[in-house]
Amino acid sequence: MLDRRNFYINGEWVSPLQKSDLEVINPATEKLIAVISMGTAADIDRAVAAARKAFQSYSQTSVEERLALLEKLLAIYKRRYDEVARTITLELGAPITMSTQQQADVGVGHLQGFIDALKNLHMREELPNGDLMVREPVGVCGLITPWNWPINQIALKVIPALATGSTCVLKPSEFTPLNAMLYAEMIDEAGFPAGTFNLVNGDGATVGAALSKHKDVDMMSFTGSTRAGVAVSKDAAETVKRVTLELGGKSPNIVFEDADLEDRVAGGVLECFNNSGQSCDAPTRMLVQRSVYDRAVKIAEDIGGQARVGNPEEEGDHIGPLVSHVQYSRVQSLIEAGIADGARVLVGGAGKPEGYETGYFVRPTIFADVSNNMRIAREEVFGPVLAIIPFDTEDEAIAIANDTPYGLAAYVQTGDAKRAERVASRLKAGMVHINGGPHRYGSPFGGYKQSGNGREGGRFGLEDFMEVKTIHRP
Ligand code: NAD
Repeated sequence: MLDRRNFYINGEWVSPLQKSDLEVINPATEKLIAVISMGTAADIDRAVAAARKAFQSYSQTSVEERLALLEKLLAIYKRRYDEVARTITLELGAPITMSTQQQADVGVGHLQGFIDALKNLHMREELPNGDLMVREPVGVCGLITPWNWPINQIALKVIPALATGSTCVLKPSEFTPLNAMLYAEMIDEAGFPAGTFNLVNGDGATVGAALSKHKDVDMMSFTGSTRAGVAVSKDAAETVKRVTLELGGKSPNIVFEDADLEDRVAGGVLECFNNSGQSCDAPTRMLVQRSVYDRAVKIAEDIGGQARVGNPEEEGDHIGPLVSHVQYSRVQSLIEAGIADGARVLVGGAGKPEGYETGYFVRPTIFADVSNNMRIAREEVFGPVLAIIPFDTEDEAIAIANDTPYGLAAYVQTGDAKRAERVASRLKAGMVHINGGPHRYGSPFGGYKQSGNGREGGRFGLEDFMEVKTIHRP
């Protein structure tokens, strides 16, 4: 059992001001991995004071100085890459192959994407009207991250804050704190000045809220559920700080009759199940044109039936457990709701997979004949659960796709390039993937509607962390 009770504040690992332990559990074995501390508002006060003090000098550093620190961090991250992957497997339950190829890889990709963007960001711009526009760091940033892609979210917040000359206090998810603490060690080794980066563990209601409300915090960058994003916004409102939110999703995957059906339906199922379905942009609603509906359902059944859960410590393309018992119960209740609402279970169903009584494993599940008003089509399940919905026309597909409070990603499968572009332009989503086009590092990531309001990654991710000042000259 690891003792990780200390917080990283002002360049040092320090004891919490009040003792309050939390056990970190391995979701595959339900065994204790580590003990961390749950912080209080007083710990946040200490961390914010350190960040505020550090901002005075760090905000004056040059882009070149900060690029050198980021390059150093990149080299350290690459050296400790396998440790990151193993830690994510241990505390999240992501199978080691997936942790290595995807979960840890984002730490390299995003950092490189920000380095490239910073090199090309103009801090001073002469405007055509004769005014001068300068970009300045926003100040002290409060960063709150979830457990599902832990390094992804940490990298998308910590790096732009530090890259632009701001300082920060990170509160990672209490379910996956260990990778965040590993990241803190790397930042320390890279030589970022004391106080520029601080880490306090704790729960949302106490530590998260203390950060959001803090008068000396200039900006909150939050990723997590829409419920908590609303709470952060309300808490931040009193002090009129900037708030950027990356929230949930219920992304549609529209399969037209002219798509490469075998490939695109199989791809959609696998993408929905990736990371045990715990991705905010997962294509969880597969909308299929009725003329190819039966064929698509059969393909989904075949490919879904081959999906296996397994031990995350073993290499392979199997699916790991969900992160926690809370998530397990939530996914079970939504599978039961799908059955009660009359959707047809093609694959999986409620309960644990055979042989997996221990661990938060669920059966990868596909529902067919879903209508968009059922709970499994409306609520974010956050498990390996796919809902297949038939449609007749392009207009109807777009209407169903947009009929959700969310607007994070959308997926379009068609052999007709003109249709792909036309449909993409009508979808209310921050990101549209056409025929399996992947998200690339450096491109903006974020959503419309209740999926959030910021953009993370690359140039847009840097700009979210900057103030714009106009200088009017005579
Ligand atoms: P969550 O909202 O419960 O927790 C996320 C973080 O917010 C945690 O660190 C938690 O401690 C904190 N938190 C909770 N309540 C808070 C409050 N009142 N004030 C301040 N902080 C609070 O979400 P989760 O279960 O950890 O993560 C899953 C959710 O995150 C899903 O809805 C998913 O779609 C979303 N997500 C979105 C993106 C994106 O970029 N859009 C990425 C990953 C996850």
